[in-house]
Amino acid sequence: MSLTEYKKKRSFKKTPEPGPEKKSSEFGNIFVVQKHRATQLHYDFRLEADGVLLSWAVPKGPSMDPKVKRLAMHVEDHPVDYARFEGVIPEGVYGPENTTSVSKAVAKGELKFALLGDKLKGSFVLVRTREPQWLLIKHRDKYAKEGDISKTQPFSVLTKRTLAEIAKDEGGDVKKAATGDPKGLPRRRDIKRRKKTSKKKVWHSKRKHS
Ligand code: MN
Repeated sequence: MSLTEYKKKRSFKKTPEPGPEKKSSEFGNIFVVQKHRATQLHYDFRLEADGVLLSWAVPKGPSMDPKVKRLAMHVEDHPVDYARFEGVIPEGVYGPENTTSVSKAVAKGELKFALLGDKLKGSFVLVRTREPQWLLIKHRDKYAKEGDISKTQPFSVLTKRTLAEIAKDEGGDVKKAATGDPKGLPRRRDIKRRKKTSKKKVWHSKRKHS
């Protein structure tokens, strides 16, 4: 577990992303999914282990349907502070199911775990096909359901915002962000948007990041 690659890919004078500091969260086992409108829209799925966030980029996002296998590209470990970075969708804790060492299970290419999140709940497996390609699959349990949660639950758990609203509030590119929101979202008159920070956060990085 090392943040060397994370550090190498970034210039911390230019990016508002957290620095490459290894540390555990209060719980030691948080997970987070971050919807990311980069060159290609994807969902960064991160699990805490040994002071870092193990990370996979899931192009179509996690599914709650056990019949759906989602490609998950293994990317560099991220700092634990990244879980609070803007754009957070669900956050919760998880428990490994087939091992006491998450890092060892990941090295072996199969990690079973249970999530206690707002949108993601119950048992899942991450299984390596050929590095860096993995599959993220929901197990059959009482939480399993059909449908695409990226379409039915597109709002941030933390701030209740869409990508376009985050871009608007934080001084980003609203048009580009909106292409990552589902079309024809219902109007939410009763929901008050909460800004995460009053500071404008603009991320103008031409570097590839995960
Ligand atoms: Mn990403």
